[in-house]
Amino acid sequence: MDRQADTAEQILARQRAAFQEDIYPPYEVRMERLSRIGKLLDEQSDTLCEAIAEDFGNRSHYETKLLEIAPLKSELRHAKSHLRKWMRPSRRGRSIEFLQMSNWVQYQPLGVVGIMVPWNYPLILALGPLIDVLAAGNRAMIKPSELLPATSALLARLIAQYFPPEEATVIEGGVDIAEMFSALPFDHLIFTGSTAVGKKVMAAAAANLTPLTLELGGKSPTIVAPDYPVEKAARDIAFGKLMNAGQTCIAPDYVLVERKKMDALKQALLKQVDALYPQNTASQQYTSLVGERSFERLKQGLAELQTRNTEVIAAAISTTETGFNMVPTLVIDPPPDCRLMEEEIFGPILPLVPYDTLQEAIAFVQARPRPLALYIFTNDRSAEDEVLKGTISGNVTINGTLLHIAQSELPFGGVGPSGIGAYHGYDGFKRFSHARGIAKVRFFNPAVLAMPPYGKIANLLGRFMSR
Ligand code: NAD
Repeated sequence: MDRQADTAEQILARQRAAFQEDIYPPYEVRMERLSRIGKLLDEQSDTLCEAIAEDFGNRSHYETKLLEIAPLKSELRHAKSHLRKWMRPSRRGRSIEFLQMSNWVQYQPLGVVGIMVPWNYPLILALGPLIDVLAAGNRAMIKPSELLPATSALLARLIAQYFPPEEATVIEGGVDIAEMFSALPFDHLIFTGSTAVGKKVMAAAAANLTPLTLELGGKSPTIVAPDYPVEKAARDIAFGKLMNAGQTCIAPDYVLVERKKMDALKQALLKQVDALYPQNTASQQYTSLVGERSFERLKQGLAELQTRNTEVIAAAISTTETGFNMVPTLVIDPPPDCRLMEEEIFGPILPLVPYDTLQEAIAFVQARPRPLALYIFTNDRSAEDEVLKGTISGNVTINGTLLHIAQSELPFGGVGPSGIGAYHGYDGFKRFSHARGIAKVRFFNPAVLAMPPYGKIANLLGRFMSR
């Protein structure tokens, strides 16, 4: 641990020294760095899929390609096609007293950015921030999750192959190294992970006043409004829930549905599970839980419901023999104080919670911590408006699930306990930049009017400015 800590500190010092030599990398340099991420993805996608599948026990290469590699390539294309425009100074207005001046904002790189990565999407949550960090002209140190040893080792090797250590590097290690990493005096630290660990990271960063972006978790609700066909909603809910076996930060955590439609939604969801994971492909395409701890936690959540008279329905799909597997499971009208309704589920269990009026569903969401994502299914504009204005969440997808995360033009992030700060696209570029406000005196310096000795002009100016 001591040696690794030394190394991490040394690498930070080396990156910072390199940054000091080039505090405003030009457009061409940034584009070339971004191209190397693209090259890495093009040349190494199969190796990456294999390492992730090995660490998970089973994860379909399709899932890794569709949910990590393809969106990364799309983010990269977006950043490269907009970078020149993002780097341009942004002109700002001025008030009448300062008409003789001009104002603008220049987005300046911050320096060295730390990137802390969870295990559930180890590629996109490492390289996604890296795209924004490098586009903004910074350098990066990445700490992957200790729960994925093969993927972390591969990422360390590949980053070293495509980037010199003073541009980007990976620091591997366990929780002790993660703690040390979060206490390094970065110029910015982006942490993606659980709310509980996020609090520790924030405390560690506070000692250095390191600015933070926290991308955390929480229980993302889905509201099926009274007008929306439950069969149609079921397709998107099952898809959003079962990608990566529910181990997705923005997976629908639970569904609020009209009481009289509970049964129809239950049947429709079970039908959708069969359609998504037919017997001939299920065992290869359905992802395992990442480890025994996750598996035991979810099993205990279900066991609690047995003692509390709650209906639990396990879908009949086949899974691999290897890894920790849990089949998609519906929980019908669970007590609000059970573990599965109090903690983020992060697995393939979906509680269905009945409501009688839409206002009641909104109140249910608002009575709980602000979630990372919210899903609304409705074709009724007034219901859409009511939910949007009546709730607070990180992001929203209407009539679908997960899709907001793939929109490069939208900021992605949580609010309150689900996160601080958003990134992706231009918002990511700005997140990892310092917005330096610049005021320039042109023909006449207005400060002259405010200079002593005071008299008539100062009186006039004072009256004009405090009008
Ligand atoms: P986690 O909080 O356990 O771990 C995240 C990172 O923190 C890992 O790199 C780990 O090494 C490090 N870490 C662990 N203990 C630490 C400590 N004491 N001090 C400093 N660092 C420490 O999260 P996880 O289990 O890997 O991921 C699941 C969680 O992440 C879920 O809550 C999920 O919702 C959330 N998540 C959020 C997003 C998002 O974009 N908002 C994306 C994916 C996952």
